Amino acid sequence: MTPRPLQGGRVLVVGAGIMGAGIAQVAAQAGHAVALFDARPGAAQQAMARLGATLEGLVAKGKLAADVAAATLSRIEPLVALEESSGVDLVIEAIVEDLAAKQTLLRQLESLVGADCVLATNTSSISVTAMAHGLQHPGRLVGMHFFNPVPLMKLVEVVSGLHTDETAAAAVFELARQWGKTPVHARSTPGFIVNRIARPYYAETLALLHEQAATPQVLDGCLRAAGFRMGPCELMDLIGHDTNFAVTQAVYEANFQDKRYQPSLVQRDMVEGGLLGRKSGRGFYRYQGEAVGAPALPVALHDAPVSAGAVSVHGQGAIADALEAAAAATLAPQGWGPGRVLDSGWCGLAIDGARLVLTDGRTAAEMARVLDCLDVAVFDRPVRLPPARGAALAFTLAPKAGAGWRSQAPAWLAALGFAPLRLADTPGLVVARTLAMLINEAADAVQQGVCAPDAADAAMKLGVNYPAGPFEWLADWHAGEVVRLLDALDAHHRGERYRVSPWLRRAADAA
Ligand code: NAD
Repeated sequence: MTPRPLQGGRVLVVGAGIMGAGIAQVAAQAGHAVALFDARPGAAQQAMARLGATLEGLVAKGKLAADVAAATLSRIEPLVALEESSGVDLVIEAIVEDLAAKQTLLRQLESLVGADCVLATNTSSISVTAMAHGLQHPGRLVGMHFFNPVPLMKLVEVVSGLHTDETAAAAVFELARQWGKTPVHARSTPGFIVNRIARPYYAETLALLHEQAATPQVLDGCLRAAGFRMGPCELMDLIGHDTNFAVTQAVYEANFQDKRYQPSLVQRDMVEGGLLGRKSGRGFYRYQGEAVGAPALPVALHDAPVSAGAVSVHGQGAIADALEAAAAATLAPQGWGPGRVLDSGWCGLAIDGARLVLTDGRTAAEMARVLDCLDVAVFDRPVRLPPARGAALAFTLAPKAGAGWRSQAPAWLAALGFAPLRLADTPGLVVARTLAMLINEAADAVQQGVCAPDAADAAMKLGVNYPAGPFEWLADWHAGEVVRLLDALDAHHRGERYRVSPWLRRAADAA
């Protein structure tokens, strides 16, 4: 099939709910004549009334010219019956998320539109391949996955199934670009790009909660400090645990119950108990009464580190360099600076006989054995360097650390600029473990041909506001170190969940 160029063409949007109304607005703002249909009588008119009020609000705030708002609205025509649509170049369906309903609609549409009309689906989880099965021209069906709210979110996943014609996908990609969006190509696989790669952000936090390693407040604090706009617990409370759990379950089932995606008992319990998050008034946090949302992290005060006889910074790279600068500033008032050891095989600080070690996936107990030292603390991966003063950072202590080191380890982390938060002795702590698993998932997506690395980066930054893309994190980390951390998690937990992506292992071997 060779679709007509879609620029300036007539667009039919089917389904006038949250997504359909937003898609109609964006298409009309880009100058298209738009027909809007919904099976529920009056729904298309109601969507237009809501859109009119939104546009009026933007005009009142001076964010939109009155004539642009009026022209946008005048380009949208609500339809009473689907049969009223004519001369359509592109249909975008945004109806209920149900395969049978979508297939019925698509077959009906094929009897109404021309053979070169492109059909697009905004499904967030249904296989585009399955949806195209049984169509007269299955090659014309393309996934056009917008994000909510459509007018504000830049990302569009352009999803190709096994039947999808390259020219149809290319036409939709170019149109999304012309609408001011950032489209990325994706192959139709469970969760596409964003909903798949994002799973570990929730799953690792739920696993840490399941292990009783930390509280929601501490986990949120650590990941916020790594640059995420919301911690996983507050984000799951916002999304709704029922919705989040349903997506996780769908990805798990669609992958033949691969343990990598196994849903969490912690979250199932919350769903069954009606602790759905903001919408039910309580999730991990409470949203009724006076204290709403995540409570502020308590500010712990630490004694200044006792003056040490000898301090040396171990390791190479940006983190070791930042530690050296911070240690030098801490020691400057005493009139001396730290030494540097480049090739000891670990990164961190040797402070007299004690060791403050950057996590490489081994627990503090293991590090104590390897380094033959009782006074060991392991700290999480700082992502922003130099750290913002007081940035939350997880740490853990070896089981036989002495009383002095138990108070000196957090005192040293505080002196280096962090707000130390103690966790149980769990491998990879919070940020390192979560980022490694996000990178691993993205590597598997690339390995399986779902998307290219730059598409994964763009998708995660624009679809879920991540501070960086997984391959950008990888570029700042060494692939071999990520693999080492994941292998340590795998050895600790013994299961399929932490198996390393072959793509990542190859990247480590090639480095
Ligand atoms: P919604 O419930 O707000 O709207 C769906 C609309 O479709 C309703 O108005 C309903 O009356 C109408 N409808 C149902 N069956 C129909 C049919 N056979 N013909 C015509 N109209 C029909 O849902 P939504 O959140 O806008 O989601 C729509 C689609 O977009 C789903 O496939 C969903 O998975 C996907 N999506 C949703 C989001 C989101 O955040 N809400 C994000 C991305 C994708």
